[in-house]
Amino acid sequence: MLTDLTIAQAAEGLRKKEFSAVELTKAHTDAIDALNGRVNAYITVTSDKALEAAKKADSTLAAGEAPALTGIPLGIKDLFCTNGVRTTAASKIIGNFVPPYESTVTAKLLENGAIFLGKTNLDEFAMGSGNLTSAFGGVENPWHRKDDASVLVPGGSSGGSAAAVAARMAMGATGTDTGGSIRQPAAYCGIVGLKPTYGRCSRWGTIAFASSLDQAGPMTRSVEDASIMLSAMAGADPKDSTCANVAVPDYRAACGRSLKGLRVGIPAEYRAPGMSEEILAVWQKGIDMLREAGCEIVDVSLPHTKYGLATYYIIAPAECSSNLARYDGVRFGERAEGATSLDDLYEKTRHNGFGEEVRRRILMGTYVLSAGYYDAYYLKAQKVRTLIQRDFTQAFQKVDVLLTPTAPTAAFARDEKPEDPVQMYLNDIFTVPASMAGQPAMSVPVELDDKGLPLGLQLIGKHFDEETIIAVGSALEKAAGFTALPDLRAGVSA
Ligand code: GLN
Repeated sequence: MLTDLTIAQAAEGLRKKEFSAVELTKAHTDAIDALNGRVNAYITVTSDKALEAAKKADSTLAAGEAPALTGIPLGIKDLFCTNGVRTTAASKIIGNFVPPYESTVTAKLLENGAIFLGKTNLDEFAMGSGNLTSAFGGVENPWHRKDDASVLVPGGSSGGSAAAVAARMAMGATGTDTGGSIRQPAAYCGIVGLKPTYGRCSRWGTIAFASSLDQAGPMTRSVEDASIMLSAMAGADPKDSTCANVAVPDYRAACGRSLKGLRVGIPAEYRAPGMSEEILAVWQKGIDMLREAGCEIVDVSLPHTKYGLATYYIIAPAECSSNLARYDGVRFGERAEGATSLDDLYEKTRHNGFGEEVRRRILMGTYVLSAGYYDAYYLKAQKVRTLIQRDFTQAFQKVDVLLTPTAPTAAFARDEKPEDPVQMYLNDIFTVPASMAGQPAMSVPVELDDKGLPLGLQLIGKHFDEETIIAVGSALEKAAGFTALPDLRAGVSA
């Protein structure tokens, strides 16, 4: 089936005229028609636009010299502003906003020939780990436990993107990752998710959550596909001063590179107390695979790991409270009816427009930034962040890459959602430290647990060294030979 191809295979098939971009796109819009009612991976579907673009892609292909992603249908997380297509951040407060401009990352993908199928679902403003806070309803993970029909979460916040890619409703998708939102849903849905170095991809035109952490990246079904998408998405942007002016290598060339003599660090602190035997076993399996592939395995220590989550949940809400202050009903977003004063307008608009989790984060963030608490919480957290960064710098003097689990568990059921928000925050325990330090990191699916759910391992690299994580990721992928498929996908069932 066309929807089962990887991006690399489809690009080749298009060039060999085995099928057209219109056929490839139609296969995906059909899959969306069949599955989206259940999976809810897309908030907005743009099939007509996609098919129009596919016709153009076929002409470009016929003329030769087509860029790498010509005719490849992708899902776009609904946090990226897309010219003329509604962009919601899964929030009521900006529910009907149609941007008159294109984000830099999506503009680059379009220039590279990609076709957009629609906007994928997410946790509201990208805050969450289970796709449980979207104003447009939850996403169903296309995977289910053996002999158990419970609906599982796809992870978050880029859960719509992850589910769409896993269920064959897109060949690849964009995600954003502030504390794990590309990697954790990738692990839960059995796909590859790459968070590049902070500053590798422009943030311009992407709705902000926590500006010192937010980073866009690809979510795909193979490491090679991630490398193809990243080459198109990355690069300097005069419109984002934090986007680094560092040359973009040909990431695809790093796939399959020899790992002889490469040093892989295993951080002791990631053996969290109470960690499941299964996660420890898959981690050990990954270690053995990389040793077998020629790597030297080195024990390292990242002593401040234990402060990662606490620090993240001060800094991210602080930045979110400031970024989201603009949605006040005056200039941006929806406006509440019937306000009797300016304060009343702010209160009603923000109360009605934001969901519970977003309001919780705004409250926490405002608190830690307020006079009297700023030094005790925010400033202290920034200092600890520096120590976390230093841990990585020191570890990377000894090793080239780190290997850890991506998440402490496999996907959990929607009705097992913890009542305590702090329990939910624990999902990010392994992903947050790399975010705090701005390191590039990738999740690769490795095997199924005994309930039949995918488990992923995380590779963390040096700043701007996505190539090494791609090289190691492709070796891990090859050794793991992860070929299992979700039960809910195009061509199977709806
Ligand atoms: N789950 C984390 C949070 O809720 C990470 C979110 C993200 O990376 N966007 O903040």
